[in-house]
Amino acid sequence: MLKKHRGIRKIVEDLYPDRAHFIYELLQNAEDKGAQKAAFLLTDNSVTFHHNGTPFSEPDIWGITDIGEGTKAGQEDKIGRFGVGFKAVFAYCEAPKVWSPTFSFAITDLVLPKSISPRADLGDKTCFEFEFNNPKKKPSDAFAEVRAGLQELVETTLLFLTNLQSITWGIEGSEHGEILRIQHSLNHFEVLRKTAGKTTSSSHFLKFDQPVKDLEKQRLAVAFALDVLPSVQTLDLRKPLAKQVKIVPAAPGRVAVFFPAEKETSGLRFHLHAPFVPELSRASIKETPANQPLFEQLSSLTASSLHQIRDLGLLTLDFLSVLPTPQDQIPERYRAIRTAIIREMNNSPLTPTQSKSHAPAKILLQGKASLKELLSLEDIKFLVENDNEPPQWAIAATQRNTNADRLLSSLDIKQWDIEEFVQCLSEKASNGSRYVASLHRWLTGPDQEFMSWLGARQIEWHQRLYSLLYAELNPSGRCGDLKDLRIVRLSDGNYSAGPNCFFPSENIEHDDALPRVNGGLYTSGKSKIHQENAKKFLEEIGVREVGEPEQVEAILKLRYRSADFKPRKQDLRRFIALVEKDPSQAERFAEYFIFEGSDGKWRTPAGVFLDSPLVDTGLSAFYDALGKNGKRVALSASYQDWGISLKKIAKFSEAVGAQTQLEISTAHCSSNPEWAHLRSVGGDRYTSPIDRDYAIVGLKEVLSKPSLAISSLVWRTMTSLTAHGAYLRAQYQKSQSWGAHYGDSQIVHLLREASWIPQGNDSFVRPCQAFRDSLPEGFAFDPGWPWLKAVRFGEQERLQAEGEKKKQTTAKELGFQDSKTLERAQEFATLPLIDQERILAEFRSKQKLQLPEHEPQNPALRAQRVAQQASRAPNNTTEDRSRSVSTGLEEVKQQTAEYLREQYTADGEMICQICKEVLPFKLNDGSHYFEKVEFLENLRKRYYQNYLALCPNHSAMFQHANESRKMLKDLFAAMEGQRLEVSLAQSEATIYFTKTHIADLRQIIKVDSAQPGSPTDSDKNSGG
Ligand SMILES: [Zn+2]
Repeated sequence: MLKKHRGIRKIVEDLYPDRAHFIYELLQNAEDKGAQKAAFLLTDNSVTFHHNGTPFSEPDIWGITDIGEGTKAGQEDKIGRFGVGFKAVFAYCEAPKVWSPTFSFAITDLVLPKSISPRADLGDKTCFEFEFNNPKKKPSDAFAEVRAGLQELVETTLLFLTNLQSITWGIEGSEHGEILRIQHSLNHFEVLRKTAGKTTSSSHFLKFDQPVKDLEKQRLAVAFALDVLPSVQTLDLRKPLAKQVKIVPAAPGRVAVFFPAEKETSGLRFHLHAPFVPELSRASIKETPANQPLFEQLSSLTASSLHQIRDLGLLTLDFLSVLPTPQDQIPERYRAIRTAIIREMNNSPLTPTQSKSHAPAKILLQGKASLKELLSLEDIKFLVENDNEPPQWAIAATQRNTNADRLLSSLDIKQWDIEEFVQCLSEKASNGSRYVASLHRWLTGPDQEFMSWLGARQIEWHQRLYSLLYAELNPSGRCGDLKDLRIVRLSDGNYSAGPNCFFPSENIEHDDALPRVNGGLYTSGKSKIHQENAKKFLEEIGVREVGEPEQVEAILKLRYRSADFKPRKQDLRRFIALVEKDPSQAERFAEYFIFEGSDGKWRTPAGVFLDSPLVDTGLSAFYDALGKNGKRVALSASYQDWGISLKKIAKFSEAVGAQTQLEISTAHCSSNPEWAHLRSVGGDRYTSPIDRDYAIVGLKEVLSKPSLAISSLVWRTMTSLTAHGAYLRAQYQKSQSWGAHYGDSQIVHLLREASWIPQGNDSFVRPCQAFRDSLPEGFAFDPGWPWLKAVRFGEQERLQAEGEKKKQTTAKELGFQDSKTLERAQEFATLPLIDQERILAEFRSKQKLQLPEHEPQNPALRAQRVAQQASRAPNNTTEDRSRSVSTGLEEVKQQTAEYLREQYTADGEMICQICKEVLPFKLNDGSHYFEKVEFLENLRKRYYQNYLALCPNHSAMFQHANESRKMLKDLFAAMEGQRLEVSLAQSEATIYFTKTHIADLRQIIKVDSAQPGSPTDSDKNSGG
């Protein structure tokens, strides 16, 4: 037996080597006995403890003495059992003494109770006395350890006890203190610590407890630490708790088995208590299935406590940071508590909402604060799809990555943020087709209910909406995505899409033609940021200031639609000016009836064509020829009277789409003359078919009666299409792999076969018969144009030219200069042989003839002599010019004949100065006959050098068919070389002079002009 006891002692000493842990065992005993008060008194060599619980019973005696019971295997898992810890007193005391109203005894040898005399002074209290008499521990050590134990008594020591409310302690000759538990309300507890009669600390808790299942006397509990709000001086228990305290995280949350298990960690931020089976030391909870039900019950207790916390007004954003998050390190057996909390908050109205109520997290929405501010509960109820309970906004943590934020993120709160809101707007306010996910179908135009909802919002609300959208979408450049949405509030309360709206102008708030946005959208309210952002948003989605294009558009809508047609002349000036300034504006007019046709009806640009008097296009002739099939009419001639330059009208009309040339239309290859070839392309199936041909509607009919106007129109049209070679070809294909067959387009076929090319006056020929040089004026021509080649323009001429070229080549190959020479040679060859020989002989004799040169031997001397002679020359009279030799002196005649014979005779043969050939016949005296013809008229005197030697033929020509007569003097003065170019009998000729004759004549002219009384025109006239 003693042996066994010695083992027990060792266990005790090992477990609590230096801690007065028996303090807790004594307190536990007092609690079990229903004591409200307990007290320790420490002296140098003992510690006493008393409480006012029920007196000792016999089983109690066996309970604290029967060590064996407490150590048997299997017994320790029995929860709520008085621990083995009491035995720890034996580490300090060999013989504890106990006084109780019922029994007074000492324990010796660890187990043997021995009766001692009672103490009358204790009344109904139970008292324990432990003298520090263990030989293994000096009394001073014992004293120090017990004092430390008493000083370390924490608030939570009393928190989970039911009966004990006060623990006092005193150290003889030193300090004394008290821990006091006060219950303020059902769940509100305060634990006070006093030292020397003064309160040194005060801790408040919210505690929720309930009986342990199947162990009704025991309770388990969860307790949350409270902190008094900074604004509260002293707690006023008559006022609501929620206004004075908040729940704060316990650091750390403790786990207690009545008293804190020092080494147990829950990872939670609140305290737990249950009568767990502890490890022997009571410092931690034993890992045993026996404890499992307690964990489960704690989970549900914690979850249900949330309801009470909410009802107390303490389930706030602050409180959320006390609850466990998925990021917390929580030992596995405590995780059920976290799971239970999250489940409860998801499904019960426990999660704080934006509107300061509570709701199940599963119906809550989370979004940006600005969005929550914009959209009320009613709004999201309307906007967000929900099956049963209407959604609400969840509260948001004030900071990211805080415990409250993490907790909220772990709940079933649905994200419904800017993205979702924009998506919602796109679904409900889109002008175009929109896919409605809930209906699984496409709808067109905005949702009417949504539009009424939007219409009921205030202007300032719209401002906030735009400002929000701008702030959220602009950084990523996405405002433009909302261009199509009818969310722009107009001055009349209607809605439109941005690009259709305009800002109000200085004087115009409202305008039917140019819808204006409500100015309040960016001017109302007090927030500059909202105002600015709203305006920027409107700009981003296409709202504009009104400019000239917009005003013109408005005029078009107002007055030039078929439904509501009231044209005004002055508008055209404005239209023209707009397109002149910005040609891209021309498209704007396509749909409007802006032109008056020659038939008096108003038409769109596609309904009219231009022709004289505006521009000469020939289209009138075309449409006349087309008859009723024409789809356009000429622009009314009345435009001449509008006071606008016709050039401007024409330019504008053409720019907006009035017709000025023929229109090419696409056609099917089946009408092409080459259809047989085109269709013969390979391929069985039409996998990638091409059937492309081009035609001009009415062209065939019109070309059958050609006119210069129509030809010119066709010519101009084809020329303008030069860049689009495609129009010249037809293409037919069935499948890619077989390729296509090509042919000339129908246009080309028509133009090639018809006689429409004008040549000279009133003559029309096929292109192949045409000559470029015969084209009338105004037909621009470039032989490189593909269309001219395609219609084979001038092909016959070209073929002829080619034939000619061939002849030339042949002639050269045969040694002739050109084909004409060859032709002459051929002709020569057909002459009789005798003639050929005669001609050749004449030719040869001529070949030998050399023109007389007669260079003066001494020019200076000769000139002097000529001048002397000239001064003596007889006067010239101007009578009888028709005769070959004027009246004059015989002497001159004689001198002339001699002079000319000498000058123009070489090798015994005299020549004519003009034909440069030997004179045709000789006189009887054997000399050549020649005529002496005066060369320059109007010289004052008659000089023998001033005559020409000519054959009779050229003599007559010179005198009677001389177109150069009046200019001879000038021509002679300017002559270079020996040949004077003159025009005789309508052809060019030259007069040959010897060098001497030239020098003499020049000297004479010089002398003659120096003579006094040179003849003038008046002299001549009077002489005649
Ligand atoms: Zn002659």
